Amino acid sequence: MRTNIIKIIKKKMRKERYAILCLMEEHEFKSLGENRKFQQEKLYKIVSYAYENVPYYRKVIRENKISISEDTIFEDIKKIPPLTKPILRKNFDSLKATNFRGYFYKSTSGGSTGEPVIFLHDESYSNASFAAKELFYSWAGLMDGDTLIRLWGSERDVFGEKESLYIRLKNRILNRYTLNTFVMNDEKMRRYIEIINKKKPKVIETYVQSVYELARFIKNNRLEVHSPHGIITSAGTLYPEFKELIEDVFQTKVYNRYGSREVGDMACSCKKDEGLHLNMFNHYVEILNDRLEPCNPGAMGQVYVTSLHNKVMPLIRYQIGDMAVPAKNEQCSCGRGLPLIEKVAGRTVDIFKTKNGELIDGEYFTHLLYFKEGIEKFQVLQKDYNSIIVSIVLKKKESLKDIEEEIEDITQKIKLVMGEGCNVKFKFVDEIPPSKSGKYLYTISEVS
Ligand SMILES: [Zn+2]
Repeated sequence: MRTNIIKIIKKKMRKERYAILCLMEEHEFKSLGENRKFQQEKLYKIVSYAYENVPYYRKVIRENKISISEDTIFEDIKKIPPLTKPILRKNFDSLKATNFRGYFYKSTSGGSTGEPVIFLHDESYSNASFAAKELFYSWAGLMDGDTLIRLWGSERDVFGEKESLYIRLKNRILNRYTLNTFVMNDEKMRRYIEIINKKKPKVIETYVQSVYELARFIKNNRLEVHSPHGIITSAGTLYPEFKELIEDVFQTKVYNRYGSREVGDMACSCKKDEGLHLNMFNHYVEILNDRLEPCNPGAMGQVYVTSLHNKVMPLIRYQIGDMAVPAKNEQCSCGRGLPLIEKVAGRTVDIFKTKNGELIDGEYFTHLLYFKEGIEKFQVLQKDYNSIIVSIVLKKKESLKDIEEEIEDITQKIKLVMGEGCNVKFKFVDEIPPSKSGKYLYTISEVS
């Protein structure tokens, strides 16, 4: 009985996912004006839904005497105060929709301010995120049944756990493979290159840092590597030098994708590479200066995003913590009616190095710490090969005793990748200052 229900739900879910994907494909080459109209309707729907069902927004909209109509929604929304991470944390309960009865799940993110935030996602959010991912895969050339290799971080792999049978089976059917890049060493890189050469993926989806390290390794060792149709990079800043080296080594095009845990994938570059196209079917993105005015093309500002699908906890004008620059040309010569941003200056994590040459992606440490509820802020610093210092700002009510077990767990997991001999120290502090550039760094390695 239960399995039958699951089957029905999954079938239904898949239907919705593909319906959203078809809609995106149908709309991507329509004019910018037509797509704006489409977005306007969606934006109005989610804002009025939030007003009716979410106590926090009801209060904010009333207090600021904001009237909302579909015709003026792009102007109306400017009057809603941005949602910052501290506000989200403080108003977590009143940000939940009171009418929501469906399935939802918890996610956690650090964001550039380094303070973990918990938020909720529902099924329609996950369907829309799935569709956006597939749309961007197709830009890089991936068609149904084509092989995809992901160079991605997997804690499970490091801890010796396996993915569920369902996920493994599904990926096998879809020809999708994940190679764990949290821990990379020469031997692993050689093996991954062998796998890439054997599987000949049409597309590689990867952390920026992972494929950059792999490209360097291939070049330095003069190895041969299969050239995929495209490489999609994500989770990190794609510096021009990185892109040049990756494209040169793999003899292919790099597609720069921008996304976050809170709202999913927001933008991706296309073959023409004239900027990153915003996926306006899933999000309404504003790039604003310190006075909360829209930035002129070429000027850098903060990213504020309104998620158009998530009904369990709508995020309206959410300050994600990244900086971006609107493009000088609003449209791309590829003909897509999706506006462009020039670049994103995203979150920063470092690569850590062990004495025997293993490279550990900084994301490994951030993942260990994001999910600890007693921790308000953190920073992981590698002083030298055998010394890691974790600075922690505890949440107000928490005491050291409350998180003793978690500290032990984190220590073990750090030693698992850095080696038993690694000295892991914890520093409990009141504040962690940002770097000189004003950017908050979760992970810093002084071993270059
Ligand atoms: Zn384009």
